[in-house]
Amino acid sequence: LSVKLDRAIKTLKGQGKISEINVASTIKEIRRALVEADVNYKVAKEVTDGIKEKALGRDVLIAVSPGQLLTKIVHEELTSLMGGSQADINITGDPAVILISGLQGSGKTTFTGKLANRLKKQGRQVLLVACDIYRPAAIDQLKVLGEQVGVEVYAEPENKNALQIAQNGIAQAKKTGKKIVIVDTAGRLAVDDQMMAEIEGLKKSLKPTETLFVVDSMTGQDAVNTAKTFNERLNFDGVVLTKLDGDTRGGAALSIRAVVDKPIKFISTGEKMDAIDLFHPDRMAQRILGMGDVVSLVEKAQEAFDQQEADRINKKIRKNQFGFDDFLSQIDQIKKMGNIKDLMGMIPGMGKALKDVDVDDDSFKPIEAIIKSMTPKERENPDLINGSRRQRIAKGSGTSVQEVNNLMKQFEQMRKMMKTMNKMGGAKAALGNMM
Ligand code: GDP
Ligand code: MG
Repeated sequence: LSVKLDRAIKTLKGQGKISEINVASTIKEIRRALVEADVNYKVAKEVTDGIKEKALGRDVLIAVSPGQLLTKIVHEELTSLMGGSQADINITGDPAVILISGLQGSGKTTFTGKLANRLKKQGRQVLLVACDIYRPAAIDQLKVLGEQVGVEVYAEPENKNALQIAQNGIAQAKKTGKKIVIVDTAGRLAVDDQMMAEIEGLKKSLKPTETLFVVDSMTGQDAVNTAKTFNERLNFDGVVLTKLDGDTRGGAALSIRAVVDKPIKFISTGEKMDAIDLFHPDRMAQRILGMGDVVSLVEKAQEAFDQQEADRINKKIRKNQFGFDDFLSQIDQIKKMGNIKDLMGMIPGMGKALKDVDVDDDSFKPIEAIIKSMTPKERENPDLINGSRRQRIAKGSGTSVQEVNNLMKQFEQMRKMMKTMNKMGGAKAALGNMM
């Protein structure tokens, strides 16, 4: 999509202002690009009509290149179509009940675990309720996730009445002081009446605070149709868009929003329990436009960064005592953030560069091997590491002296940068700015 848009917008470059004639072919290109990104044709037409109107209205007002202006307008238009600002979920109630709906395989159970994890990190008391009564494995799956994130799971493996289980779960939450109950439900491979009746019944009886509809963003046009059907039956409160980490086109976000007129509240970006984000329309617009999602990247980095560790390292940086053990711990922090390639792909320009490169946790292996071949003294005081020590380290780690030298050089540069930041007044402030 971004290549197409690039081209469409480039045809406008070098032209003084946006006029009906020079904008027409560009708009057509943009529309085609949107449709190719799984945006529903009607929606794509609406978007581009809006863009055209705004572009023509603003041509004489702003003195930027038409290409820049159009990019900005496209971005604004996509943002506003996806809801403008972000929407969170309502968790007031005693307890608040969050009902999770969607097709089988859309990512409901995974999302249930992630949401619990997120709420728990915010200091909330959460109970998960396993209401997928059709697949015995579904209960176990939720239990495993619950254990992983440290949240209790309520289940009744012998009971075949989803509503009863949910009600018992809610009673249990009241008894044990849990303020939020998340009800994971059964899905089917396609919309069918029995499933719909069941989830509808759950909604009517439980009167949840939030009913969320979970949908796989990789299912393209089907995602839109499913959303429409579920919304007609359930009148849900918000959408969760999953699997946005894959080779996914953001178009589903745009179409679903336009067709059901309900906010997208969360996005799911991987199988790990921290791969969840609030939905930010402006960032999704950026992603659709291929600008790179820097803000998401930064937020993710910050969340994964363990505060205590940060304080400890900051202290060392302030005293110019940053050593290789600290470096190792930083690498661990980076790994915690999730798939490295995904993270780097969010940096503008990096996505293309990384296309054929394999960047994953393994990329750090040689670095870790080198550091682990250093003695504790050497790690603490890298200045000790002279030529003969480098040879020994290379041998011990199964790398070359060249690789050891490279790492030493990079490390030195890092330390120099830290020293400079210290002079600028507080490493923490400087790091804060960088983040
Ligand atoms: P459910 O049937 O709706 O409960 O779906 P599950 O939660 O069991 O998920 C189905 C499959 O999709 C599992 O293999 C999950 O690990 C995977 N999955 C769920 N969410 C994501 C996501 O955001 N990204 C990726 N890559 N996989 C996901
Ligand atoms: Mg499930």
